[in-house]
Amino acid sequence: MFILVINAGSSSLKYQLVDRDTQEVVDKGLCEKIGLEDSFLKHGLDDNEVVVTLPLKDHYDAIQAVLDGLLDPERGVIASLEEIGAVGHRVVHGGEYFNESVIINDEVIARIRECIPLAPLHNPPSLTGIEACTKLIPASPQVAVFDTAFHQTLPPKAYMYPLPYDLYEEQHIRKYGFHGTSHRYVAQRTAAILERPLAELKIITCHLGNGCSISAVDKGHSVDTSMGFTPLDGVMMGTRCGTIDPAIVIYLIKALGLTPDEAEDLMNRQSGLLGISGVSNDLRDIRAAAESGHERALLAYEMYANSVKRFIGQYVFAMAGVDAIVFTAGVGENDDRTRRQVFEGLEPLGILLDEEKNRKRGGERFISAEDSRVKILVVPTNEELMIVQDVLELIG
Ligand code: ADP
Repeated sequence: MFILVINAGSSSLKYQLVDRDTQEVVDKGLCEKIGLEDSFLKHGLDDNEVVVTLPLKDHYDAIQAVLDGLLDPERGVIASLEEIGAVGHRVVHGGEYFNESVIINDEVIARIRECIPLAPLHNPPSLTGIEACTKLIPASPQVAVFDTAFHQTLPPKAYMYPLPYDLYEEQHIRKYGFHGTSHRYVAQRTAAILERPLAELKIITCHLGNGCSISAVDKGHSVDTSMGFTPLDGVMMGTRCGTIDPAIVIYLIKALGLTPDEAEDLMNRQSGLLGISGVSNDLRDIRAAAESGHERALLAYEMYANSVKRFIGQYVFAMAGVDAIVFTAGVGENDDRTRRQVFEGLEPLGILLDEEKNRKRGGERFISAEDSRVKILVVPTNEELMIVQDVLELIG
C-alpha cells in the first residue's frame, strides 16, 4: 500500500509516492508550467527520470497525468489505483481554522476555500488537486497538511500586529507564519538526535531556502516565527525583502507613483539577495561573486547573515534561552559561510561553532563545538515524510 503526497504550487505540482510500511519513496515527480503551452511532467527516480511534454491546462490535468504515469505499463510503479491507500495534500493556508492536519471532508474543503483571500495563488490549486483526487481515486481518503497549522500555537502577543484591533476581527490581519511542516519536522528530528524529549527543549529552527523563515519552538510548540501575514515578512530572502520599515512602501508609492501591483513585485521579486547584489537570487552565485571581490555581493551576504542572526537573537530572549539551533533547506543545509557569519562573535554567549564540522557536508549532524552550551545542528528537511506520518496517524 502506498501514500501519495501532493504539493500543489501556483503553476506547478510536485508528488511523491511513498511505501506505507517502509516509508521509502518509490516514485516522485513534478508538473511544471501548468496552464502554459509548454507544460510538462518530469517523473521517475534519479537515473530513471524522464520528461514528457503534455498539455496541462490546470491542476486537475496535472493529477490525471501523475496517476497515468504511476500506472504506465512500462515505467509505472503500480498496477491499479487501489494501491494508493491515501493521499496527503500540502495546503498553504488554513487560516485560524486548523492547528493540525485533518482528514478532508466537505467542511474542510469549505474552510480551505474561505482562506483563498489569504493565499490567492496557492489555495485554489490545492482545492483543484483535492477535487481531482476525489473524482479519480474516490476510495482513497485524503488528508490536508497545512503550512500554517504548526504556528497556531503562537500567543496573541506574538501574532497580533499593533494596528487597529478591528482589522484583526474583520480582515483577519495577524501573523500566520509558514513552512510549518518543515519547522515541525526539524524540531522533532532535533529532539531525537539530542535524545531528549521535545517537551523539554527550546529550539530555534532556521528554514533557509529561496524563502526563509525562523521559528522559536518551545517545548514542541511554535511560540514565534519570522514570516507573518504573508511569506514576505521576516528574514531577507532570495528575492523578498523581509522585514522593512513599512513607511518605505508608502513613500515609494507617493514618490515614484507605484501601483499596488508594482510595489508588490518590487518587494517580492526584485529585492532581497537579488536586489542588493544585482547578481542573482541564488546564494551560490552570490558567494562566488563575493569571493571574487564583488562588493555588492559581499554586502548582500553580510546583510543576509545579519538578518538571520537578528531573528535568532530575538527568539533566545522570547524563550529565555535556547538548547539547540538547527539549520535546514537549500542554504541552511549547504552554505557553511552563512552559518559561520551567523555565529561569529557569539562565543561569550556559549554558542560555539566547530569550524571544521561546519565545513563538512552530509546529512543530519552537529556543527557546534563539543563544549558549546548551545547545540548547533544541520537537519535536512523532509516535508513529504512529515505529511506521510500525519496521514498514517489520521488514517491508520
Ligand atoms: P525552496 O525555498 O525553493 O524550496 P531550497 O530549499 O531548494 O528552496 O533552497 C534554494 C536555495 O538554496 C538556492 O537559491 C541556493 O541559494 C541555495 N543553495 C542550494 N544549494 C546550495 C549550496 N550548495 N551552497 C549554497 N547555497 C545553496
